[in-house]
Amino acid sequence: MLFDRFCESCGELGYPLCVGCSAKIRLAAVPPVTRLRNVEIRAAAFYDGVVRELVLTLKQRRSRAVATLLGDLLIQRLDLEYPEVVTWAPTSRRHARERGHDQAKLIAAAVSRQCGIRLRRALLREGEHAQTGRSRRDRLTGPTFVAAPHIEGRRILVIDDVVTTGATLTAAHECLSLRGAAYVACVAVAATPEPMHIR
Ligand SMILES: [Zn+2]
Repeated sequence: MLFDRFCESCGELGYPLCVGCSAKIRLAAVPPVTRLRNVEIRAAAFYDGVVRELVLTLKQRRSRAVATLLGDLLIQRLDLEYPEVVTWAPTSRRHARERGHDQAKLIAAAVSRQCGIRLRRALLREGEHAQTGRSRRDRLTGPTFVAAPHIEGRRILVIDDVVTTGATLTAAHECLSLRGAAYVACVAVAATPEPMHIR
């Protein structure tokens, strides 16, 4: 049976996406680059419609099919510039514990599988405050990360699911650069519809 499963976004027939959602995701606009403290963050799509549904699904449950859809979106829409290592911006330990998985890691793993680039944890998160629920001003400072020594001299691709202010990926970029990464590229699957562009 070809259509024996349901769309991961809208629940209609078709797997992993129905015909309608496949078309919508193909036509989705590419957001402008988010810039924070001289770090550029590119996103494959806006956090809206089908992409938003898929990101929310992956937050709620570990799904290899959804992670692959989102990883493919990154690969198709962004020039990933031949990194040697693909990694992810780890979610707070509280969120990871509540959900039992880290959605950014699942997307990074999908990109690793599809591109044959090595997946490695490169960042540990210091402190426990989650970004969600903090004021915008607070959120601009971002979490504090600690980088693994194996990234020294490497070209690193850091993946996150959603970029809002850019604080998380900027903090990740600064931490990896300070630790001696040769090159750091930061990408997110989705940017919130009105990202703040700070120069
Ligand atoms: Zn659908």
